[in-house]
Amino acid sequence: MGSIAIIGAGMAGVTAASALADAGRAVTLFDKSRGYGGRMATRRGDGFALDHGAPGVATRDPAFRSALSGAGGAAHPALGIVGDPGMSSIVKAMANGVPAQMGVEIAAISQASGGLELTDTGGVAHGPFAQVICAVPAPQAVRLAAGIAGVEAALAGVVMAPTWSLLLAFDAPAELPRRADPFAKIIDDGAKPGRANTWVAHASIQWSRAHLEETRETVAERLLATLGPLPAPRYASAHRWRYAFTEAPLGAPFHSALGGRLLFGGDWALGPDAEHAWQSGRAMAAAVLS
Ligand SMILES: Cc1cc2nc3c(=O)[nH]c(=O)nc-3n(C[C@H](O)[C@H](O)[C@H](O)COP(=O)(O)OP(=O)(O)OC[C@H]3O[C@@H](n4cnc5c(N)ncnc54)[C@H](O)[C@@H]3O)c2cc1C
Repeated sequence: MGSIAIIGAGMAGVTAASALADAGRAVTLFDKSRGYGGRMATRRGDGFALDHGAPGVATRDPAFRSALSGAGGAAHPALGIVGDPGMSSIVKAMANGVPAQMGVEIAAISQASGGLELTDTGGVAHGPFAQVICAVPAPQAVRLAAGIAGVEAALAGVVMAPTWSLLLAFDAPAELPRRADPFAKIIDDGAKPGRANTWVAHASIQWSRAHLEETRETVAERLLATLGPLPAPRYASAHRWRYAFTEAPLGAPFHSALGGRLLFGGDWALGPDAEHAWQSGRAMAAAVLS
């Protein structure tokens, strides 16, 4: 049994990694970020923290609910399960100490003698690995697998939509409208456990697409202006999620290449939610173990 590399320490990658590690397999996680969670993201600043990706996670499958609760997730009256101290801490706890190389961005997956090799953006080669699970958004997966036949065509039907998110922290309680154009969701992040005076507002997909290539500063100014008169925030920023939501999924829990040695998955395989990412991660681990 050779070792397995997993690219992406979001819900899908971490779910696959911990299932494989539990089954006794040698696993290494790689993520370009310094922290776990992917789009279940938590931004920490000077005296505040806020969840600028998924604000909470709705659960359909009781096994998913119990995985989240076991990782410190708590029920929230409006948002489903939320993390304490943040959404990213749920994913970090689910990783349960699986060996990880954080801050390593993989640029290419290639076939080498003895297995599959990962080359990072610094030109360093990792591996060879017997198997690789690539759990990054589909358009990014296609770029990593440019040298592997058939992947681009297989994932061509997957469509992912962007979201610009406005991140706000105030010195004192502030009240924002719960609905306002062009926002799809305005979230009182400060009402979560351990939080105070933080808000996150996600622009609609349509608005985000129209303003996708603008700078963070311009977008923050534009979005803030649409909220009407507010106390001056002590922190205001915008975050661009280029691949926030799945609009058209693959329609299967993962794509398998190279006779099952290389698997591609994530929420985009099945739908737009974190639960879809979890399902995809579980299915990829089961396929490796079968
Ligand atoms: C604004 C927003 C709101 C959302 N709201 C909800 C909600 O209310 N409910 C819900 O269920 N879901 C929501 N989601 C969706 C949910 O966050 C995702 O479905 C889920 O987190 C996807 O997990 P994943 O593991 O498939 O991908 P990701 O979380 O995207 O993880 C992929 C990981 O791969 C890493 N990576 C990418 N490229 C490379 C590379 N080249 N090398 C190394 N690492 C790489 C990334 O850094 C990332 O950590 C929301 C998402 C966003 C952005």
